[in-house]
Amino acid sequence: MKTLYLLREDLRTYDNPALDYACSNGEVLPVFIEPEGLGGASKWWLHYSLVALMKSYHELGCPLVFRRGDPVSTVLQLATEVGADQVVWNRIYSPAGIGLGQELKAALAEAGIPSKSFNGQLLIEPTKVLTQQQTPYKVFTPFWRACRAGLAPAQPIASPTVKPLDGSVSSERLQDWALLPTRPDWSGGLADRWSPGEQGAQQRWRTFLGGVINTYKDGRDVPSAQSTSFLSPHLAFGEISVRQIWHETLNAIQEGRVDETNGNKFLSEIGWREFSRYLLVHFPEVIDRPFNPKYEAFPWQDSPDLLAAWQAGKTGYPIVDAGMRELWHTGYMHNRVRMITASFLTKHCLTHWQHGMEWFWDTLVDADIGNNTASWQWAAGCGADAAPYFRIFNPILQSEKFDKQGDYLRVWLPELTKLPNKYIHKPWEASEDILKAASVQLGEDYPNPIVDHAEARQGALDAYQAFRN
Ligand SMILES: Cc1cc2nc3c(=O)[nH]c(=O)nc-3n(C[C@H](O)[C@H](O)[C@H](O)COP(=O)(O)OP(=O)(O)OC[C@H]3O[C@@H](n4cnc5c(N)ncnc54)[C@H](O)[C@@H]3O)c2cc1C
Repeated sequence: MKTLYLLREDLRTYDNPALDYACSNGEVLPVFIEPEGLGGASKWWLHYSLVALMKSYHELGCPLVFRRGDPVSTVLQLATEVGADQVVWNRIYSPAGIGLGQELKAALAEAGIPSKSFNGQLLIEPTKVLTQQQTPYKVFTPFWRACRAGLAPAQPIASPTVKPLDGSVSSERLQDWALLPTRPDWSGGLADRWSPGEQGAQQRWRTFLGGVINTYKDGRDVPSAQSTSFLSPHLAFGEISVRQIWHETLNAIQEGRVDETNGNKFLSEIGWREFSRYLLVHFPEVIDRPFNPKYEAFPWQDSPDLLAAWQAGKTGYPIVDAGMRELWHTGYMHNRVRMITASFLTKHCLTHWQHGMEWFWDTLVDADIGNNTASWQWAAGCGADAAPYFRIFNPILQSEKFDKQGDYLRVWLPELTKLPNKYIHKPWEASEDILKAASVQLGEDYPNPIVDHAEARQGALDAYQAFRN
């Protein structure tokens, strides 16, 4: 039997149900079709992830085929060209992914070609978790309690032996897709920090599970601590399976290698990833509309100058600027700082969350349609189980609390390195003498605050009040 296996957000061989099924049924033709709509940092990641995957497939003795074009007609045409007996893929749980899956199924059925899809992306099938009233959950805690009570994901499957399709099939060249940035090439910081691909993912996972996880619960809030898994881009591209993460964490807890509190806290963050996708499946409109429809009428002010200063890391608030510069240089930002920067944009700057979401989409290597959408709506107060709008992060107190010694700030804001800890979180309060001793000229070396914290906070509360009335 000949099986065409369509790869998408599942760039791995280990615990890959569609690939495993294809391989157990005879010859396999693995195909990747150039996706549309990726941001710049994700394109960079995809390029290297595919390079790594090509190597893996090469070692398995099977070439990976690249094609460009409308996915439905490309798959149909290729399946006919090689005489495929069936087409398989792992499902993508997003409105576009689900839509494409349905279109593919219908088009293949019409052409008389059987197809089969698998869950390789989530621990649970979103349609299987419902309240007692048979409605979808809208709040994380009961959702996750219900998941944990009934959660029995299958054990991971070993990487299969692949029998390639007999005969040659033409492929485009990955280089011709121009996924890498040129003029300018801004990817140096990304390359220093990351190893895209399945092997890089497994290495990160082993490092984390081998020890770092035991400091996760408290360490995860400290931006300088490196206490999280850094698996997000690997998960976004499906380079590691969430079922592997789930089972290996539980095993490690059971065997006493990981303590229960830290292990379960980590699993609950994996639960947030599940919840974000779950929401997209049940409420597809939230992709570009507020989950709470009342927020359609929120009086956003959308100043292009404030947005540009935020994007460039030049707001004059060190913790915000450090985060935005970490993002620009590495394609990543620490979770606590993501929350602070998102709150600052939507509340201090009264800028629509979609502008922030779009910037993150373009610059994050872990840009994930579920997590990015849910998290921005959470930060803006309009999402499911969201932080209320009137909860406005104070960027000075947050910085003093979570980066007490200014370690994170000093990595990303070298111009402030010499400021004493007392002032590095709020340089505008330092005297002329202190600034001079630290070689900082405010407004020259580092910006003055673009908004006054107290005024901006009040402005946000007033806007919220006016909107509620
Ligand atoms: C405004 C904003 C935008 C965000 N955009 C994205 C995004 O595009 N892609 C993305 O993967 N995450 C996003 N997050 C969530 C979170 O910041 C990252 O998942 C996390 O920082 C990734 O680092 P890590 O892999 O070391 O996380 P860990 O703490 O090690 O967590 C393990 C995994 O759990 C999941 N996870 C952790 N926290 C969350 C969360 N709050 N919501 C959903 N899933 C979570 C991720 O898949 C992560 O890789 C966003 C958060 C905010 C506040």
